[in-house]
Amino acid sequence: MKKELIFLGPPASGKGTQTSRLSEYLGFPHVDTGGLLRAAIKNETSEGLEAKSYIDKGALVPIEIVCKLIKNRLLQDDCKNGYILDGFPRSVEQADMLEEINKEIDGAGQTEFKAIYFDIPEDLLIERIIYRRSCVQCGAIYNLKSLPPKQEGICDCGGDLTQRKDDNEETARARFETYFKETAPLVEYYEKKGVLTKLNANGNVEDIWNRLLQIIE
Ligand code: AMP
Repeated sequence: MKKELIFLGPPASGKGTQTSRLSEYLGFPHVDTGGLLRAAIKNETSEGLEAKSYIDKGALVPIEIVCKLIKNRLLQDDCKNGYILDGFPRSVEQADMLEEINKEIDGAGQTEFKAIYFDIPEDLLIERIIYRRSCVQCGAIYNLKSLPPKQEGICDCGGDLTQRKDDNEETARARFETYFKETAPLVEYYEKKGVLTKLNANGNVEDIWNRLLQIIE
């Protein structure tokens, strides 16, 4: 049966880092709405142009845009056996839409769901966001304080490091507000459906990876 893994958690809770690794491990694509939206902005598509002002404010991009991007991505051939969703759904409305999208693509009851909640104290997260950098070439994620590259400003693969435009303190605070208002209710939503597992996301990348494997296997 097709497997759908949904990663939930506040901004900078480590979902992206672990999803990339799990994606390689399971051979399932990492479907990241933030990444799809940033690519749409870079390519100056109509969706990207509309999404930009919301992302810059730390608000949710309108559901029609995100669902169109997600549906197109989930229809691609590499998603037919399963995928890992990172950053989607981000509201109860989007979770309902995801069920509709799954029904349209495969019919009802054809997908096995698992939602994993990255549980971590909030006070650690703003600092993580401000010091986060990523490689323009390979996408590796660093933290200037806790996980710096060998050479300042350069990824260990040789690519340049960049800071996301929305990784500044003001936008980060707005993103947290959006998270607690819109996304946090999904924990209860998936708990009620009996598909939620909580992952202690406080610790180093290796510890969290080992906890994640226990949940997946
Ligand atoms: P992320 O890379 O997951 O931190 O997302 C960056 C920004 O993209 C968010 O602050 C939102 O503005 C937008 N975004 C990402 N995923 C979604 C989504 N599922 N629904 C609406 N907006 C989203």
